[in-house]
This record gives sequence, structure tokens and C-alpha cells, in this order.
Amino acid sequence: MKQPPPAFAVAPSAPSSWASSKPPLLRFLDRCHADFSKEAGGAVADYIPELGKADPAHFGISLATLDGHVYEAGDTSVPFTIQSMSKPFVFALALDTLGAARVESVIGVEPSGDPFNSIRLNAENHPFNPMVNAGAITCSSLIREAKGDGAFEYIRQALGRFAGRDLAVDEAVFASESVSGDRNRAIAYLLRTSHVINQDVGAVLETYFRQCAVLVTARDIAVMAATLANRGVNPVTGEQVMTPYAISRTLSVMTSSGMYDYAGEWIYRVGIPAKSGVGGGILAALPARLGLGSYSPKLDGHGNSVRGIKVCEALSQHYDLHMLNRSDDARTSIIADYDIGKNPSRRDRRPLERNILAAHHRDVRVIELVGTLSFSNVDYVSRQLAAKPRPQFVIFDLHRVTSMTRAGARLVAEEFRELSVHGVTVILSGIKRDSRDWKMIGEWTGELSNVRDFFLLDAAIEWAEDQVVYRHGGAIDFHEITELSEQALLAGLTPEELTDLASIASVRTYQPGEKIVTTGSPATSLYFLRSGAVHVTLSDGIRLATLTAGMAFGEMALLETHRSADVLADLSATAYEIALRDFERFRKQHPRASERIMRNLAQLLADRLIVANTRVDLLTAH
Ligand code: GLN
Repeated sequence: MKQPPPAFAVAPSAPSSWASSKPPLLRFLDRCHADFSKEAGGAVADYIPELGKADPAHFGISLATLDGHVYEAGDTSVPFTIQSMSKPFVFALALDTLGAARVESVIGVEPSGDPFNSIRLNAENHPFNPMVNAGAITCSSLIREAKGDGAFEYIRQALGRFAGRDLAVDEAVFASESVSGDRNRAIAYLLRTSHVINQDVGAVLETYFRQCAVLVTARDIAVMAATLANRGVNPVTGEQVMTPYAISRTLSVMTSSGMYDYAGEWIYRVGIPAKSGVGGGILAALPARLGLGSYSPKLDGHGNSVRGIKVCEALSQHYDLHMLNRSDDARTSIIADYDIGKNPSRRDRRPLERNILAAHHRDVRVIELVGTLSFSNVDYVSRQLAAKPRPQFVIFDLHRVTSMTRAGARLVAEEFRELSVHGVTVILSGIKRDSRDWKMIGEWTGELSNVRDFFLLDAAIEWAEDQVVYRHGGAIDFHEITELSEQALLAGLTPEELTDLASIASVRTYQPGEKIVTTGSPATSLYFLRSGAVHVTLSDGIRLATLTAGMAFGEMALLETHRSADVLADLSATAYEIALRDFERFRKQHPRASERIMRNLAQLLADRLIVANTRVDLLTAH
């Protein structure tokens, strides 16, 4: 094994030019470009005579992220022929077009340890793998088997979907390889006599040479690599170009054989699946992270671009990107975990309901999750659930969940089943039924009767509370009429005071959905809910509270001149409305009652503040 290359030297103390605001990764690529431009080793390939005309000074580096950003340094728009970097894509295309069984029946997946153009087959007389010429020519033959004379066009279009643009062919390079490619002809005849390919050798080679002569830039290669790193979804166009199966198998053979007889050392040292081409390109795809494309025509003895290799080594070392050097902490996946004692819904409850919920708050457990629901994260969550007495309701809030892996979804489904067996109701918030994640979970759960969903976490908590209240005999009768004497805001008033108050109130009736109070309008009256339910929302739709009979709303009119929220009837509702003018007169006539009411109001506001603070605490404690 060779000595590891010296560590890449990015100055730890930033030079003054760093003051401008370039993203660090772009600055890193610029730096690689400047440093490795000095690297003059290697030789431009000329066994295909036309390739010998490449300008050895050209050097372009491009890096595409999985959110679709493309960084570029140097000659990233100079076209060159894709050559062997077409092999992984055509292999993926063959898998998706003919099915894995057919492809795997004629091509192996073992590294050969041989150079790319080796005329040697494995013990079964099959190509060792799809990354050497024998395997790649077999892939081209398979595509011909499926598409006949349309094979090349089919390949060109597929390569274009990986790049996100239509790709042309360098006719001169194609013609040059057609006349000089005797070694590939020898390989193709060997394949035919070994019954690996069953198509006309000339036609297969024409397809293969054309596919190698497709013109790309370093930028294209970065996007193509990022598509491989992104389970087959082109991060720039958003198109699912190939199936995740084909992509993962392609990355597998790139890992073991992408760099030919340098593959073992490459994966040991750099740890990023890659593929090179004799045109001077190198493609590196780090799954779930990035795609790199580099172009510099001078090659080493293995046929790999000298500067391109340096770039990949520097990237891997500088950012510690070796794909096997990874760790993850599942404990960060839970951002909050509580029962409803500490964080009830925004529904104001009457004393009976409040008592029931206080006694049974542990029946509802809320787990707020964040980030990716991966294998490890979901496993961790399931152990947190098992560690405490089993609740009757579990709410998983997924608002901050950004993605779900298949393994994570499968574990989620298994956890739901487990909970179902124990009679626990699962409630999901922050996920929609038509979402991809929901479908993925559904693949394994089938129809589960114990799973409910509410997009808003508060609505989920409220629903669970209602179930708890209901189970313990506290069902709410929405038709029940509540008198002013039962209003918390009016607690402690004498019957005479209440009678006087009733005389200035008018009873209003509201239809479901009717707007009672509008944000910004003058606050000229207060309301005491007599029957039904209303909800208070901010103008952007965020629900602050749901109120039922016995509660006041619009009471902030005592403190503010304009309404700060909307109030809408949930169900049909009736309320006593008292005009502020009349109320002020009442307060003057009854100073003792007035003081009582203001004290009650202060108490109600203090209670709300305590709940709000608890909520903030719950989120910051994690
Ligand atoms: N067209 C070239 C050949 O078959 C591709 C080889 C390569 O890029 N390694 O020789």
C-alpha cells in the first residue's frame, strides 16, 4: 500500500481574503483548484487518438448538494466525453429495464483486481462486474436486447435525466474509438462466444462507443453523482430517475470496483463510492450527502485523473467524509416528552373536566419528535415509551420530522402494532394522510384501528383529553345551558349583582363556523358563553383556545380597545353579550362586584401564563 498523502493544507488561521462571504465549501473547492492546478503528473489518454487532443490545463471541480445547490470551481463548463463514468448509469438502467435477475444472470459483482480493459472473464465465463469494460459492454448489449436500434437513444436520454439536461455526443471521439477500439472488439467477441451477449457485436460496440462519447461537464457529473447519492432523485430537477434498488446496487459496485485495480485502496483511503473515465472525469457519490464531479485530463497508470483523485482525497480528509467513519446519536430525536398534566390543550375546561384530567393526566403521553425517523431514532423512541407505565393514548407529534427512512417507517409500524395489542390509541399530529411518509408506514401496518391523526398537535391533545373525560363520566353536553352564576369570571358575585348584570345582557345565537369577534375591530362588548363551544384563533389560524359553556370571551375588552384575536363558533352556540358601556355603568354601581371581577380576571390571566410558561419550559428543557 502507498503512503497516505499529506494532509490537505487549508490554513487554520483564515487569510484576510476570507472576510468576504463565500460559503466555506466553495472556498474549499477554489482552494483545491488552486493547489492541485500545480499538479502536473500523469498523461492524457491517447489510445483513443481523439482524446489526445484534450487540453491538459483544463481543470474543473463541481459539487452538488442534495438540496440541489451546485458549487463550481474552475473549468466546470468545459465539455468532455463521459467514457467509463457512463458505466454505473447504464448498469442502473439495465437493472431497471430488464430486471435484476436478467442482469445478474450474466454479470458478476466481484472486483476483478484487473485494469478496466482486461480481457478476462470470471470462472463462470461472465464479466467480473459492470464497472470494467467487459461488464459495461454486456450492459449495452442488454439494453439493445430490450430496445433494439433505439438502445443508444434510450441510454442518452437516461444519462440526460441524471444530468438534468439533454446531452450530446462527441462524434469525433466516437469515430476515433470506433476505428481504434480493437481491444473492446476482442472483449465483445469473447463475450459473445461465452454466450454472455446475444446481440450483434458491431451493433453492441456502436452503442457502447457512443455511450462513452456522450459529452458532459464537471457540473453535469456532480449533478449525476448527487442523483446517485440521493437514492435516484435528481436533486436539481426533483425527478426520480431510477429506482432506489438500482441506485443502491450501482453504488455497491462502484464501491467495490469503480476504480478498477485501485478500488481497494480507494475505498480504504477515500471511502466514497466513485467512478473514473479516461476522458479525465471522476465522479464521486457520497450517499445522503453530495455528488462530486471533477475534470482534468491527465491520468495515472490506472486510468484515473491525477488531479481528480487529489480532489476526492482532500474532500474526504478535510471534512472527514469517509462513509464508514460515521456515528449518530438517537437521543436527539425526542425534543419533548410529557403527559398532559404539564401541557394540556388550549381548551378551557370546566371544574369537573379539570378534576378528571388532573387525576388521569398520565393517560395521555405526548412525544414530540425532530429530524429523521431512522432505524436508531425510532428504536430509541420505542424504548422511551416502554420505560414508563403504559398510557392509554400516545401522541406522536411529527411537525419537526423532516424525513423517514424505510427502516424507521417499518419500526414505527411495528411499534403501532405493539401498542395496538395493548389497547393503546396512537394519535399522530403534523403528518397528512396523503403524505409519502404516511404511505410508507401504511405499507406495513395495513389498516390499524388504533391510529388517529390530527394535523394540529393541540387538536390531538384536545381529542385525547375528551376521550379521557368521557371515559371517566365527564362527557360534555353541548346543549346544556349555563347561567351567569356559573361563570368563572363572575365567581363571588351576589345573586342581586348577577340579576342586575343579567338585565343588561342580551342572548345571542350563533351558527357553527360563524365569526363572533374579528381581530382588529373595536372591543365594545364582552361575552359569556351560555351553550355550545367557540374557539379563539389568531388571524393566521393558530388556535389559542377552545371554550365551552361557562366561560367568558372578549373579556380582554376590559383591558384593550381592539380585538387581538378572532372568535368563531365551533358548534352552534349561545352567549350573553354585554355592551362595554353598560358593563362600565354596572361596575360603577357595584364597586365591590367590579373589584371581584377584576380579581377573577387577573387570576384567569395568571393561570394562562403558567400554562404558557410550562410549554416554553418543555421545549427548552430538551
Ligand atoms: N471508452 C473507453 C474504453 O472502453 C472507456 C474506458 C474508461 O473510461 N476507463 O476504452
